Amino acid sequence: MEDWLREIEGKEAHDPLLMNQNKWRVWVHGPVIVGAGPSGLAVAACLREKSVPSVILERSNCIASLWQLKTYDRLRLHLPKQFCELPFMPFPSHFPTYPSKQQFVEYLENYAQRFGIRPRFNETVHHAHFDSTIGFWRVKTLSKMDKTTEYMCRCLIVATGENAEAVLPDIPGIHDFANPIRHTSFYKTGEHFRGKRVLVVGCGNSGMEVCLDLCNHNATPSLVVRDTVHVLPREMLGKSTFGLSMWLLKWFPMRLVDRFLLMVSWLMLGDTSELGLDRPRLGPLELKNLSGKTPVLDVGTLAKIKGGDIKVRPGIKRLKRHTVEFVDGRTENYDAIILATGYKSNVPYWLKEEDMFSKEDGYPRRPFPNGWKGINGLYAVGFTKKGLLGASMDAKRIAEDIERCWGAEANHRTVFARSHLPQSNS
Ligand SMILES: Cc1cc2nc3c(=O)[nH]c(=O)nc-3n(C[C@H](O)[C@H](O)[C@H](O)COP(=O)(O)OP(=O)(O)OC[C@H]3O[C@@H](n4cnc5c(N)ncnc54)[C@H](O)[C@@H]3O)c2cc1C
Repeated sequence: MEDWLREIEGKEAHDPLLMNQNKWRVWVHGPVIVGAGPSGLAVAACLREKSVPSVILERSNCIASLWQLKTYDRLRLHLPKQFCELPFMPFPSHFPTYPSKQQFVEYLENYAQRFGIRPRFNETVHHAHFDSTIGFWRVKTLSKMDKTTEYMCRCLIVATGENAEAVLPDIPGIHDFANPIRHTSFYKTGEHFRGKRVLVVGCGNSGMEVCLDLCNHNATPSLVVRDTVHVLPREMLGKSTFGLSMWLLKWFPMRLVDRFLLMVSWLMLGDTSELGLDRPRLGPLELKNLSGKTPVLDVGTLAKIKGGDIKVRPGIKRLKRHTVEFVDGRTENYDAIILATGYKSNVPYWLKEEDMFSKEDGYPRRPFPNGWKGINGLYAVGFTKKGLLGASMDAKRIAEDIERCWGAEANHRTVFARSHLPQSNS
């Protein structure tokens, strides 16, 4: 094996990188990380702390593109900042408990700068597979200029996230609807909907918050609630609901903590089923644990529903030119539809591998906390359904694991081929 690599390395040293006009091959010294969101940055920083260089490939033109380009203006972190910090760097003390998206992006920019992380932007990974004859991953990217590059690396870290692509539901008649339909990833502010009747489809945190934002801009929103949902106050007993739950879980079984959360929610919010928001059979923590479904942390939407500013509607049966027919037979006119229908992983589209990642949902097959490591130097960061906290845990584990291999292989000196590019964080 080592002779092979030596031979390739020698050949590359004499060959220009250019294979033909628009095709390049790059041998990377260290892991390639796909995605420059919080997870990609966290793992690059952890590697950097262990003196392992890495290269980050990012399809957009900035770090944290989900936060910078695809989220609404009023977004704040849903969880208190201490549960969202990346390894080695807390949020500034002057930031509020729930930083705004601008503050979160500022934090990430500073994070990248502090750890010398310089992703290669505008490089979309469209294919990656393990070449067992040489023991390297071949990672092919396409840039905006139609330039294709093949990165060759011993370790591949998937950091493309749980929210890589918007989920667009197939609603009957969707193409007949004449007014605008857009996913929340294109929604910035209710300003554009002033005075309009807007139907928001989906009652997760985004759908609820978009409804509130629409109300605040004098639009008239209705919320489609098809499934059961747990709505909890963002804070209870003077503490964040998330923080309190974590603390209680140290002492009590999950079901008991769930019962406590539901009792306090009932006292604070009342019976949500009276508003059309039926609760699931399982408690909020148990449900999150089993299915990954996140409870909604209420930031004021429920009061607007109670006050009649936001109407709750059941599932959609079909769309017509300007009207929406619901499954209960009611028909109403709307000026726009916002799809708060979530996101999905895009890993099955580009990673040609079936052991670690499921083809169905693009998540690691092994559940948390064991989904971060595959075979042949393949890793996953940020697929835990546990937000930024889960991503940080993955990042630390991956860096420790790679450091072990890196140390062992560095002794042989020939196993990692030399990079022909400036490294992102070396
Ligand atoms: C509205 C909203 C609010 C949230 N609030 C919180 C919160 O308060 N707390 C919390 O812990 N979590 C929250 N989350 C969860 C969220 O997933 C994380 O905050 C975080 O963004 C995940 O980071 P990531 O790096 O794993 O994924 P992402 O942030 O999605 O980053 C993945 C990156 O990979 C890039 N990419 C994707 N495919 C390719 C490809 N083929 N080639 C190259 N690059 C690619 C993308 O462009 C993107 O930049 C929220 C999510 C949303 C949608």
